[in-house]
Amino acid sequence: MYGLSKEDLDIQAKARLFADELIPLEAAVEMAGGEVPAEQEALHKARAIELGLYASNMPQDVGGGGCTSLQQVLIQEQVGRVTNALAWVVATPPSWLPDVATPDQIERYVKPSTRGERDECYAITEEGAGSDVDAIDATARRDGDDYLLNGTKWHVTSFNAADYAFFQGKLTNGEHAGEHAMFLVDLPSPGVRVVRIPAYMHTLGHAHQHPIVAFEDVRVPAAQLVGAEGDGMSFAYEWFRFERLMVAARCLGAADRLVAEMTAFAQERIVQGRPIVEFGAVQAMLADSLTELFAARSLTYETARGIDAGADVKVQHAQCSMAKLGASEMAGRVADRAVQVFGGRGYMREYAAERFFRELRVERIWEGTSEVQRAIIADQMVKRGPGRLA
Ligand SMILES: Cc1cc2nc3c(=O)[nH]c(=O)nc-3n(C[C@H](O)[C@H](O)[C@H](O)COP(=O)(O)OP(=O)(O)OC[C@H]3O[C@@H](n4cnc5c(N)ncnc54)[C@H](O)[C@@H]3O)c2cc1C
Repeated sequence: MYGLSKEDLDIQAKARLFADELIPLEAAVEMAGGEVPAEQEALHKARAIELGLYASNMPQDVGGGGCTSLQQVLIQEQVGRVTNALAWVVATPPSWLPDVATPDQIERYVKPSTRGERDECYAITEEGAGSDVDAIDATARRDGDDYLLNGTKWHVTSFNAADYAFFQGKLTNGEHAGEHAMFLVDLPSPGVRVVRIPAYMHTLGHAHQHPIVAFEDVRVPAAQLVGAEGDGMSFAYEWFRFERLMVAARCLGAADRLVAEMTAFAQERIVQGRPIVEFGAVQAMLADSLTELFAARSLTYETARGIDAGADVKVQHAQCSMAKLGASEMAGRVADRAVQVFGGRGYMREYAAERFFRELRVERIWEGTSEVQRAIIADQMVKRGPGRLA
């Protein structure tokens, strides 16, 4: 199905094997508040590397897997089948970085990240700037051979596990004053402090908290600037395209797992002497879920194939938004139905339906909300015509 090549099927099988090894651990991790012992997580990471799943998005010349976009989707789809972020060890370091990094940054950040020795986090969103990234208040002031960074960033995912951060701020001086710039900030660094660690809907443990982080007069050498002054926003857009496609992929995996689990449960669960799968209302929930999954998977795979074939970048941008919008909304509906099919068990944290119901909610929010995706798609429809996008 889906016209996958032998190489595609091989990598998909490896990723599926990896996900299937992690799934039995989920319930215990949930009961432990999402915590995975560090030694165990290190073993998971080593296994991901051994199977060739780690940094599959990175170019081969920096040690990465050099996978096609479709293959990356196939891997992340399997990552999405696992709850509690257990499969996040299948990391995708910033694939846009090698093209703009200096040779020194390649050695200090790109290659170690690709080998699994360094981990990054993204400090972009602020209290007053989420959907509207251009509204950030964070600043970067050139001071001799250094920059001074200031700003308070929200929702800095995996800050606790990261040893460097991408910090986006607006330049306050120089010929690019007012424009965005991005910096690599090593962690810990003087002036970087956690303001607060809010609790979130999901239970992903210490390593995947999303703290509010203050950067106060953080002094970094000019060598920490990524690309050129004024480039900051273009990196964010490139990363959004990639991450939106990967969000879509993970949502496919979540829905795939939910559909499998609800179908099996509906066949086993006996009510009034009959398996509930014989009730028309339950059949409708199963059938709608698989139909919507098929549609979202076709959309996401086709988007990935377009990228691999070198589609126009604006078309890619709109299609990645469509994939994220379609797949995340689909997965939310499927999770809601799965809870319903499981009845009271669907409300228990030891069941995957309950965990996905909570964990999937953010997929419609981060990397651009569903409303923002719709705005992007509609904008491109007007500029390019719907016929070029779908
Ligand atoms: C768990 C989690 C982890 C995150 N991790 C990171 C991270 O690691 N790094 C990082 O930088 N950020 C991160 N984020 C931030 C995330 O990307 C933002 O929350 C998201 O982009 C939405 O921004 P906001 O929360 O400010 O909502 P707002 O922008 O305030 O939006 C509020 C509402 O208004 C709507 N809205 C906004 N603009 C429009 C528009 N133009 N048209 C129609 N409706 C609109 C939105 O859709 C939403 O419904 C994370 C968020 C969460 C929840």
